[in-house]
Amino acid sequence: MKKTTYKTLIKKTFDEVCSLENNGDKASYIPELVKIDSNKFGVHITTVKSVKFGIGNYQEKFSIQSISKVFSLTLAYKILGEKLWNRVGVEPSGTAFNSLIQLEKDNGKPRNPFINSGAIVIADVLLSNLENPKEDLLDFIRNLSKNQDIQYNAKIAASEKSVSFRNIALCNLIKSLGNIENKPSDVLDFYFDICSLEATCEQLSELFIFLANNGSAMHNNSSIITKSQSKRINALMQTCGFYDESGEFAFKVGLPGKSGVGGGIIAIHPNKYAISVWSPKLNLKGNSYKGMLFLENFTTATTQSIF
Ligand code: GLN
Repeated sequence: MKKTTYKTLIKKTFDEVCSLENNGDKASYIPELVKIDSNKFGVHITTVKSVKFGIGNYQEKFSIQSISKVFSLTLAYKILGEKLWNRVGVEPSGTAFNSLIQLEKDNGKPRNPFINSGAIVIADVLLSNLENPKEDLLDFIRNLSKNQDIQYNAKIAASEKSVSFRNIALCNLIKSLGNIENKPSDVLDFYFDICSLEATCEQLSELFIFLANNGSAMHNNSSIITKSQSKRINALMQTCGFYDESGEFAFKVGLPGKSGVGGGIIAIHPNKYAISVWSPKLNLKGNSYKGMLFLENFTTATTQSIF
């Protein structure tokens, strides 16, 4: 698709969605996230042909929350290879992102790396395998594109920590079942830091373009992960990226993607583009209300999806 076509369709879809009612609620369980202006709305696309286009609040930083679970998974997969799947599964959970109910039956092995329990196990893997986990993960993310501006937000991490009773329960349960190696408080602190990462829509679509480019960075053509690993991360995003709304996202949008409770969504069209959307109000499943709507209307307008 031509540059002008993406630009025209994004503009048209953005205007359509802007004029609709902004339903849903912000993630009220994290006090700092409630302070964000509900009317923020931004979109940015980066294509493998180096087309870049943004609209709305696409240059404003926001809390990417669970979108960062794709970065931590990518690094853990790069380090452990296929052995990683002994620690965490690759099945959709069909439950909420912070659910405890399957874990005991599954003997402490989370269904997938994108629900909180899975991401907590991934944080544990990184703690065990990196010299300076917090700095090393940040360097890894910054090097995915040439953007050095990505940061953790200590205030958001502390805000989440102050109310994180469910995540504490999840981590302790997994520890009791033998699938956490490090001290739960260290694992959780690192997990909260990972969730606190901030980026703009523009930066996000640039950071994620490697998943549309068979695992290779665009700015220097270096291989970040193998083509097969990139395929598998896209598959996980397709089947598990939206928790118990993953089927709905596949049905309506038809692209691999990942959401966060900060209201961001990244979606990948392999071999074509990465597109990010930010609108803070969430639907009942914890996914951005307008973000989902924008992507549904956008892939309908382009008539392109992976299906
Ligand atoms: N930090 C959030 C949590 O652990 C991330 C959840 C999300 O973005 N879906 O609850």
